[in-house]
Amino acid sequence: MPTSSCAEYVASLLAEGAFRLGEIQVTPDFSLSHREDAGKDDLEVSTDPWKALEIARYDDGGRYRALKTAANLRHGWRLQLADSSEVLTALDFFYPAAIGMMVAHQAGNLTATPLRVTLERQSGMYAVVRKLNGEQAVAVVSRLCCGAVPCLRRKIWSLTCDGPPLESVTRNTPGQREVPLLCSEACNLFVAAGRHVVKGDPAPAGE
Ligand code: SF4
Repeated sequence: MPTSSCAEYVASLLAEGAFRLGEIQVTPDFSLSHREDAGKDDLEVSTDPWKALEIARYDDGGRYRALKTAANLRHGWRLQLADSSEVLTALDFFYPAAIGMMVAHQAGNLTATPLRVTLERQSGMYAVVRKLNGEQAVAVVSRLCCGAVPCLRRKIWSLTCDGPPLESVTRNTPGQREVPLLCSEACNLFVAAGRHVVKGDPAPAGE
C-alpha cells in the first residue's frame, strides 16, 4: 500500500478535527497524548515522533508491553509534532500498521484470515498449534484478546472460513470520533499462546 494513501488518510482525519486511535487522542494541531491525559498541562512534551517508540515500550508500572495494542499505554506525555506526516510516523510506532489497515479496509482491500488458515501456516516449533481446537481458541481469545488488559484491536477474523467474527473488546466512547484498530489475522502472540495451550504449558506471565 502506498505510504501516500496513509498520509492522505491521516491528513484528512486531522482536517475534520480531533480523533482517537486506541488510547491516543490526536488533535488538529498535530498533538498526541494518552486519551486520559487530554487537557492536562503537566505532561512531558516532545517534538520528536520517534519518541513514540520509547513511550510505547513500557506501561505505567515499567512492565514491557509485548502487545502494542493492549490497553496499557503509559500516561504523562504529549507529542507536539510538526505536520500530519509526523503524526502518521508516531501512530505507526504506537500501533503498527493500524492506519494502513484502515486505508485498506476503506478501499475494500482488507481481507480477514480465518484462524484455521493462520494456524495451518505455522511450522517448526509452532507447528503443534495446528491442533488447537475451537474451544481452546475461544479460551485464548478470552485470555489474550479480551483479558484483564484487553487488546484494543477489533477482530474481523473468524475461527473458520464461514464463521462469524469472534467477540471483540472495544473501548469506543459515545460522541468521540474513533478510528478503529482492526485485527485481520491472529497475531504472533495469539499463535504463541495457542501453542502453550495445546502443549498444556502454564500460561506465560502477562497473558
Ligand atoms: S489476535 Fe488480534 S485482537 Fe487478539 S491479541 Fe492479537 S492483535 Fe489483539
